[in-house]
Amino acid sequence: MDHDLAPELDELRQTVRRFVSRELQPLEVEVELAGGHLDAKRRAELQAKARALGIHSSSLPRSVGGTGYSWEAQVVINEEIGAVTNGLGWIVFAPAIVLRHASPKQVERWVRPAAEGERAACYAVTEEDAGSDASRMATTAVREGDDWRIDGEKWHVTSGDVSDFVVVQCATDPAIGAGITLFFVDLDSPGVEAIEHPLYSHNLIDGHPKLAFRDVRVPDGNRFGDVGEGLVISKEWFLHERTMIAARCLGAARRLISEASEFAQKRVQFGERISEYQMIQEKLSDSLTELWAARLMTYATARAMDAARSEEDRKRVHTKASMAKLYASEMANRVADRAVQIFGGRGYMRENVAERFFRELRVERIWEGSSEIQRIIIAYSLYKRGVEALVG
Ligand SMILES: Cc1cc2nc3c(=O)[nH]c(=O)nc-3n(C[C@H](O)[C@H](O)[C@H](O)COP(=O)(O)OP(=O)(O)OC[C@H]3O[C@@H](n4cnc5c(N)ncnc54)[C@H](O)[C@@H]3O)c2cc1C
Repeated sequence: MDHDLAPELDELRQTVRRFVSRELQPLEVEVELAGGHLDAKRRAELQAKARALGIHSSSLPRSVGGTGYSWEAQVVINEEIGAVTNGLGWIVFAPAIVLRHASPKQVERWVRPAAEGERAACYAVTEEDAGSDASRMATTAVREGDDWRIDGEKWHVTSGDVSDFVVVQCATDPAIGAGITLFFVDLDSPGVEAIEHPLYSHNLIDGHPKLAFRDVRVPDGNRFGDVGEGLVISKEWFLHERTMIAARCLGAARRLISEASEFAQKRVQFGERISEYQMIQEKLSDSLTELWAARLMTYATARAMDAARSEEDRKRVHTKASMAKLYASEMANRVADRAVQIFGGRGYMRENVAERFFRELRVERIWEGSSEIQRIIIAYSLYKRGVEALVG
């Protein structure tokens, strides 16, 4: 029982935890040793179970097929799915929160099927020369009559190998209003191709292919949001995703501390359990303390979002989300490093949870705005709003 959570959220937590521990964690080593491969049929069966539990698509309102949970409830779900390696937590699918801004026709074609697990979405922003600065797109969308012609290449498109549509961020033809605009593109459209499937440090169930768009024609009905509104929508997505990254880092750190503590209390060296050695205690104590701090920050961020009433409230939460993502992701990496050390040589074996998290958590400091970018956001918000407006 978590006394900080309302009873219904604690119940939700137990539901997700049971699903993670019974259905997902037992698959970790098999998936790791298979380079991240999970049979499509088993994946579909597991997704159906997550759906039957009503824990899927928590980011989307019921009106578009989601389960419409509060931010706090979404943090509960993400904290629990963060406790499993190899991206198996993504079985509890949750399409990007910003899809709720789609038009009614787009909802019926893409968003509702994605929310119900019939289709799968990916999001393509990053390019070879546009990473942290997502405003300088080389991918263009040029208006031609009723259609748009999209050309460019996108990097690191997470789930681009298992999705059937993509939201692609483009520089809009300057002739009709420069800026950034988003488009829905079906991945089987003529001219769309996965040109490379690079290998990464982790072995997640989804890959991150490079996608090429060559002379891809889409009707204006595929435009997501207004012309020039793309960055506004993407920023809203980043804000949400940063909070959920923080939540998943909590789950990962909790599992690491728990397993490392258990191991330390059994492992005997020099005639004594290593848990009795103060250098081991320091690693566990620091980890637990930092996890608690990260947990308070992340839940406070979600609750502040649930309570936000104005645009200014939401901007303050944006800064809180940056602080939570920064702190929780760096905390989880420190915890993983300490856990590997506590497990010793076992912690360097791929069958060990600490080894897998040690590799997998590294990207949490890079994607959705690196730690450096979060620090820049936090600093400018501090200059503008002052200390008290941000932390009380
Ligand atoms: C596994 C994985 C999955 C991904 N999935 C997706 C996805 O699904 N969709 C998508 O669009 N993108 C995705 N990305 C891309 C990811 O968001 C970018 O990698 C990230 O934004 C950083 O961009 P970059 O790699 O080009 O690094 P760069 O922007 O080139 O940065 C390189 C280094 O410079 C630092 N830096 C940059 N600017 C500053 C500054 N102003 N001050 C100080 N330091 C700075 C960065 O912090 C970093 O340390 C994914 C990346 C990975 C690794």
